[in-house]
Amino acid sequence: MKKEFGKILVAGGAGFIGSHLCNRLVSDGYDVVCVDNLYTSHQDNIKLLLGNPKFTFVHHDVTEPMPVNDVYAIFNLACPASPVHYQKNPIATTKVSVLGTLNLLELAKENKSIYVQASTSEIYGEPLVHPQVEVYYGNVNPVGIRSCYDEGKRCAESLCMDYYRMYGIPVKIVRIFNTYGPKMRENDGRVVTNFIMQALLGKDITLYGDGNQTRSFQYVDDLVEALVRILDTDSDFVGPVNIGNPHEISVKELADKIIHLTHSNSGMVFRPLPQNDPIRRCPDISLAHQMLGGWFPKVNLDVGLMKTIEYCKRTYL
Ligand code: NAD
Ligand code: UDP
Repeated sequence: MKKEFGKILVAGGAGFIGSHLCNRLVSDGYDVVCVDNLYTSHQDNIKLLLGNPKFTFVHHDVTEPMPVNDVYAIFNLACPASPVHYQKNPIATTKVSVLGTLNLLELAKENKSIYVQASTSEIYGEPLVHPQVEVYYGNVNPVGIRSCYDEGKRCAESLCMDYYRMYGIPVKIVRIFNTYGPKMRENDGRVVTNFIMQALLGKDITLYGDGNQTRSFQYVDDLVEALVRILDTDSDFVGPVNIGNPHEISVKELADKIIHLTHSNSGMVFRPLPQNDPIRRCPDISLAHQMLGGWFPKVNLDVGLMKTIEYCKRTYL
């Protein structure tokens, strides 16, 4: 079913992950239409693509329908991803997760496009199964401060499956685990950029809780490779599929590492753990490895962090 070098729509394409994906798709030969309302991003992320005839930027809010013809594939990445930003206007977060997904699935139906949904490890909430496998249904607080994002993304997965079952849309649900890299904003609010900026500026590193909670950090290039490979999977491979790096470390260990890599003399301060902040998170990536041609994350944490530190120094200092 692969239609080489057709038009691909990337919703949220000016964001951190989206801009890396647009770069990759254009260099692979696709025509890319990037649709974004710049809610949590800046056109700087795509400035090198703006003059390219294979790239079009459309400033648009995906909660409103948008007609586009001849679309081979749609990536839906449109949604604030940092807890700080998705909690700022939680109703907007639910709206973009649900209405945005609905509009883009309708577009996939009209165009008979492949539809890739950027879902999240937050589907698992505070997981009681470790590492997290796709068949685990999760443990999500439906009424907490993270639920606008968690439940919004769960509803989006549900919509994808119903469009697949009712209309045969070749959907692909990708559950992304914590991803970092260049082009994250200095005020993104997520842990990697917070710690890097604090370390570079000699400010105290803010550890929430006791810092023993874990995450598994994936470098953005590894994710983009998986997203591109998913286009070539069989139309009945809908996922959900976990995409992440199974190297699990505590937030405190991450702080030590970033202090060391930046040669910083920052100290650490402890702040309250936000409500429903998951204590452990690590993906089981066997399904991705099997279905995406032996895909496995290649970039080790020190290497990825150094690239991100260099970017932050270049861009924000
Ligand atoms: P990001 O905030 O940098 O990117 C999101 C993009 O969506 C931004 O450019 C933003 O302006 C755009 N957007 C938001 N609301 C919109 C709307 N109503 N209409 C049009 N565009 C809108 O975040 P990111 O880290 O690049 O995340 C991209 C996607 O991947 C998100 O859907 C997120 O849920 C998912 N994801 C990311 C991670 C991660 O660790 N980075 C983990 C799990 C899932
Ligand atoms: N965190 C922290 N200090 C910060 C930012 C985040 O200790 O300045 C912690 C946060 O409480 C969580 C982990 O780092 O346990 C990852 O947070 P992030 O916001 O990056 O993403 P999450 O995985 O929670 O969505």
